[in-house]
Amino acid sequence: MQTRISINKQVSFEAAHRLRLHKGKCKSLHGHTYKLIVSAEQDPSYSGAHRREETGMVADFGVLSKVIKQVIFEGFVFIAGSKFAPTISVPFDHAIILNAKDPLTSVLEHSDCAKDLNLCKLLFEPTAENMAILLMRRFQDGLFNYERKDILITKISLWETETNFAIVEAKDIEIKNTKIRDIGGEIV
Ligand SMILES: [Zn+2]
Repeated sequence: MQTRISINKQVSFEAAHRLRLHKGKCKSLHGHTYKLIVSAEQDPSYSGAHRREETGMVADFGVLSKVIKQVIFEGFVFIAGSKFAPTISVPFDHAIILNAKDPLTSVLEHSDCAKDLNLCKLLFEPTAENMAILLMRRFQDGLFNYERKDILITKISLWETETNFAIVEAKDIEIKNTKIRDIGGEIV
């Protein structure tokens, strides 16, 4: 069996959300210090210049760090296939993350202080599970745009609290890159 080796990067960020369909107190707007661990492996079928057998590295940590920083703290949305043309959306850090269908979204959008709010509108409930899926896709698109198709985001672990966290895994790292990206998650 082939040994699997990953590199992992941990960051944390602040954000507020609410789960409008929740039966308990998560229905109310509240905040978390999210802890995020991003795991990446090299595509075992990759045979180019960056291959681990040559470099000794899955990838330079700097490549992964750059993409994570741009997505979480700068609001980059990389469009797969359109090289070097990320759009700038709302950074997740210090955002208010809501489902676009949530009535609170339009209340905040039409408030006098709307321009001061980092309102991040999703097409789905902003649970840790859904956010982890979205982040996996954003990071993978970023790596694609930096022409590192050999680096596959294989796991996203996202903590809302010390004890509550979601994990999304791309189970089969041998599937083609396009399939890994095909996990859904969009932003308005
Ligand atoms: Zn919460």
